[in-house]
Amino acid sequence: MENLINFTVGPVQMLDEIREIGANQVPYFRTSEFSELMLDNEKLIKEFMFAAEDSRVVFMTGSGTASMEASIINTLTEKDKVLIVNGGSFGKRFVDICDVYDIPHDEIKLNLGEALKEEHLENFKNKGYTAFAVNIHETSTGVHYDIKLISKFCKEQGLFLIVDAISSFLADELYMEKFGIDVVITGSQKALACPPGVSVIALSKNAVDRVYNNKPKTFYLDLKSALNNAERGQTPFTPAVGILIQINKRLNQIKVNGGVETEIARVQSLANYFRNKIKHLPFKEVTDSPSNAVTSLYSINEKANDIFITLKDEYKIWICPNGGEIKNKIFRVGHIGYLTEKDYDRLVDAFDDMNKKGLL
Ligand SMILES: *Cc1c(COP(=O)(O)O)cnc(C)c1O
Repeated sequence: MENLINFTVGPVQMLDEIREIGANQVPYFRTSEFSELMLDNEKLIKEFMFAAEDSRVVFMTGSGTASMEASIINTLTEKDKVLIVNGGSFGKRFVDICDVYDIPHDEIKLNLGEALKEEHLENFKNKGYTAFAVNIHETSTGVHYDIKLISKFCKEQGLFLIVDAISSFLADELYMEKFGIDVVITGSQKALACPPGVSVIALSKNAVDRVYNNKPKTFYLDLKSALNNAERGQTPFTPAVGILIQINKRLNQIKVNGGVETEIARVQSLANYFRNKIKHLPFKEVTDSPSNAVTSLYSINEKANDIFITLKDEYKIWICPNGGEIKNKIFRVGHIGYLTEKDYDRLVDAFDDMNKKGLL
């Protein structure tokens, strides 16, 4: 039997060099060597996010959601009023976090697969908002929101801008400084293609000032101690040392191979390759504003979950299912991680075979 192929949106397939690191003993970390590695991680994340010179980066041990929560509670307070783009389950997560901490907020509710447009923002002008939170790629539906539009709105309205780019970093262009983004969040198991367990928060100078002036009701997620420790390449508590070493290897590989633009172009070319090869199948793209990270597809015959199960059990291929109301309507195919055009050929062959058997 051929190897299993993973087209989910995380954890994704890792390069062999990254996997090999996982077999090593985990080193002690209160050392100058580990500090150096962490400072290199910070430098490369800033470079790949096009962050300002005076911005800072902290590495959190915890999945992406830990960093979403840390970002909200360290940079915002009950005196803020946040506008949240809610176009799916990750947008809803920002809403839930603000609910837990009583941070005032309103939602821009979007329909499934709907892109954010100027007219959505129009109603929220000059209404006393202080901050804006968005998952730039709403991974649950595959929509990639227009950062230029959001950036312009936030600059005009003077809003503090938090961008969850967890599934978008290294897959879609993102210019932190140019677009005036104050917080960018990402995670280890998406396009970084490392094991899950580490998430990353990049903070503008303005965001760092907010952190130091804030007293969030949290101990582990307080970013003041993370920022203080990060000055010398350390973390307040034992981090996921092994994953941080894998992240360092991966960031340096990207750098050597031509940098972030080359990596984004690679992901984009896989996405285009796949999208061009499925036009004859009974699927329809969910959005006309897709991220390069994922293709989200309607199953015309509402067999999305069956397709997921059959591919897994009969063809050893994992695509990404959806839950809830859209369980049978939509499935997703990822383009992040260590994938090649050959892998997509195998997926499309499997689709063709299933189509012949009436399983699509
Ligand atoms: C994956 C993802 C997250 C984080 O999920 P975790 O399971 O906590 O890592 C958050 N936002 C988006 C947009 C994501 O794609």
